[in-house]
Order: sequence, then structure tokens, then C-alpha cells
Amino acid sequence: MNAAGTVIVGGGLAAQRCAETLRRRGYEESIRMVCAEPLAPYDRPPLSKGALAEEVEQAALSFRAPEWYRDNEVDLLLGSAATRLDPARRQVELAGPGQLPYDQLVIATGGAARELPFLAGFTNVHSLRTAADAARLRPLLQSRARLAIVGAGFIGQEVAATARGLGCEVTVLEALPIPLAPILGEELGTWFGRLHEEEGVRVLLGAAIVGARGGEAAEELELADGRRIECDAVVVGVGTVPATTWLEGSGLDPRGVRTDAAGRTPLPGIYAAGDASVPFEPRYGEHERTEHWDAAAWQGAAVAKVITGSYPGTPLLPSFWSDQYGHRIQYVGHARRADAVLVTGDPGSRDFEALFLRKGLPVAALTVDRPRSIPGLRKQIESGHARGPAEEVVA
Ligand code: FAD
Repeated sequence: MNAAGTVIVGGGLAAQRCAETLRRRGYEESIRMVCAEPLAPYDRPPLSKGALAEEVEQAALSFRAPEWYRDNEVDLLLGSAATRLDPARRQVELAGPGQLPYDQLVIATGGAARELPFLAGFTNVHSLRTAADAARLRPLLQSRARLAIVGAGFIGQEVAATARGLGCEVTVLEALPIPLAPILGEELGTWFGRLHEEEGVRVLLGAAIVGARGGEAAEELELADGRRIECDAVVVGVGTVPATTWLEGSGLDPRGVRTDAAGRTPLPGIYAAGDASVPFEPRYGEHERTEHWDAAAWQGAAVAKVITGSYPGTPLLPSFWSDQYGHRIQYVGHARRADAVLVTGDPGSRDFEALFLRKGLPVAALTVDRPRSIPGLRKQIESGHARGPAEEVVA
């Protein structure tokens, strides 16, 4: 076994899928996974849903049992963060003493929650990215805190749904006039706002927060129009940024690593996958970051296929799911590109599907409680796509 082998930086879904796929495909060199958290790779979606409402054993969130790593000779360097990349020497520097040489490097450091500077430092202001974040937030929700959620994106909405389920008084503050409108359009965005209002959430739109008052904890949020929102706890859900600042000075973009459609960066032997990456989308000939589970899983496996000498094929269409108030919401495609939307079913009773069209061709779909529709809709969208330019490494 070669000592350098593959180093995977990041210990999440993309990292896990990469390691698994490498071993499944007969890769025999060493695999070392550098994980900033003290936990073996685990699944994040439950952290805003069931595992936020009620504590679940970490083992139930873990992708694999500890024996898997031993049996497959995947070395986990837990609680160890990469701080610098030196591509000329082919090594990664770690926090504390230590460098790791690599033959192949996979960057899979995921995303970091975007912060709001004027809320920094308050002890009751939370973001939700890790199991530790969920563990801090859970008791507050269980004690029915008055919760202010900043941002009506999917994380904010899921936290609102979970918190309402636990009986919290919830206010969602969204700067946009309609939640999710830039992605899903006004009709669907309005539907999401109503969904939460019908469940007893106070949804404040066009709500620009300018500051907070309190001592150690934020007791009131101040809005630009003078309104004040009292709260016991605040969750900030205003998106994520790629967790790639450690790449500063390496020649790769520390604001997110651009790759071709198969996860290759322009630097030899270096790949990126998951929320840290900004891969080429061959359908549209553009680089596009998708922060979804399916994409991270596909990209992690794709990189392993390239390392073991095969072509991973065309990337999946972006897709995600969200669970809110007992409803399963699913999405596939690129709704941002649509110029029309066709809704069938009954949005009022939370049972419908929306087909997003561009020049009459389907480009995306969103369904509520219609899981069986998704495969057909996916096919329809795929077949409607004009083929994009050939995949290539783009600097
Ligand atoms: P991550 O899973 O974020 O893993 C990255 C890992 O790298 C982390 O463990 C991090 O600590 C580590 N790391 C960071 N920096 C360093 C460093 N310098 N050195 C070493 N390690 C480092 N998607 C859906 O499609 N549906 C959902 O319902 C859904 N729900 C979600 C709910 C929550 C609360 C969250 C946070 C995400 C959710 N997602 C959902 C998104 C999905 O989980 C992510 O897209 C996926 O986890 C991305 O995988 P990843 O491996 O790229 O990154």
C-alpha cells in the first residue's frame, strides 16, 4: 500500500461516498479522511427534522458503524481540520502539528452557515449545520422558547415546522417580499409562506433586521421599519458558504472550488465534491453550486470513479426533499430558469405538483406529497433538456 494514497478532507456525505466507492471499486492505496468534527461521517438532514425534535443516538445518524472504517482500512482523523493546501509539495497542513502527503486529494469540506455580523456574540443566536448545533438548539425548542428564525429558506422553514410541532411560538423573518421567490417564483413562494401561517407561525416578509438588543442574550430583534420582535432564541438560516477558506493561497478559489462535471479541479490530482464544490453543469454550460444531499452523494462517488479510472457519466439533475408538518416536499431541476409554472392538484389541501417550464419545455418540478410523481417528472425534464457543451476542466 502506498503511504500517500488518497486524502479526503472533510468528513460528511461526499467524503463518505467517495471512500466507499473507492473501496468498492478495488482501490488498494491508503485512504485517510480528515474530519474537523469529533464524529465519524453522519447524515445532516435529520438535524432540522426528527433529530432536532428529539435526541437520537449518534449511531443512528452515522453512515457506517465504526467497524466499517476498520474493515475497509479508511483512517478517520477525527477532530482534525485542514488549514492549508500546498499543491506543489502535494501536502495538506493540519491544525496543530502535522502535514499529510497525498497522491490524490479530495476536497469535501461542505458548507458553513452564513452569519449575520450584528447578531454575532449573543449566546442565544444559533445556526444549524452540525450535530452539536442541533444538540444546543433542541432543549430550547423542547422548552417551548419563543423562537425567531431569520430566513425563510428550507432550513429556516424546517426549523419552524419542528419548533411548531413542539409548541414553540415561532416568528420567521424574511427580507424578501415572498419566501423563496427568486428560486421558485411568486406563486410557489406564496404557498410556502401560507403553509407556515396556517400552522401558526408569524411570517414577517420584507423584514430587514438591523440589530438586536439584550445583554448576553438577544432579547429583541430590531427591524428597519422600527418593529421589535421579542425572542428567547434566534436561529439564523440565511444560507451557507463553501467551507473552503483554508484553500487561501493554494491556487484554488477559497470561495468554492470550481470543478468539471466529474469533480476534477485544474490542479493535478485534486478533486472536489459536495457543498464545497462548484461543479460544471453540462446541461447549461455553467458552474453551479447545489447544496443538496443527492448532489453531494453523486459527486463524492463520481470523484472516486475518476480516481479509479472511469467516467462517472452526466451529473444528476439538482434535487432535494424537505419535510414540513408531515408533508414531503420534493424538487428536481432548475426552476430558476423557468418562465412559466403549471400547477396541478390542490395546493389548498397540500397535495399538488408544479411543473416549471421554459419556452414550453419542462425544466423543474416541485411536488407536495406526491413521491410517486418524481421519477416521471425527472425523466420529462431530462428529455426536455438540450444537451450542453462537452464536459471539460475549466480553470
Ligand atoms: P457536509 O455534510 O457539510 O460535510 C462536510 C464536513 O467537512 C463536515 O463534517 C465539516 O465539519 C468538515 N470540515 C469542514 N471544514 C473542514 C476542514 N478544514 N478540515 C476538515 N474537515 C472539515 N439536503 C437535502 O437534499 N434535503 C434535506 O432535507 C436536507 N436537510 C438538511 C438539513 C440540515 C440541518 C443541513 C445542515 C443540511 C441539509 N441538507 C439537505 C443538505 C445536505 O445535508 C448537504 O448538501 C450535504 O450534507 C453536503 O455534504 P458534504 O459532504 O458536501 O458536506
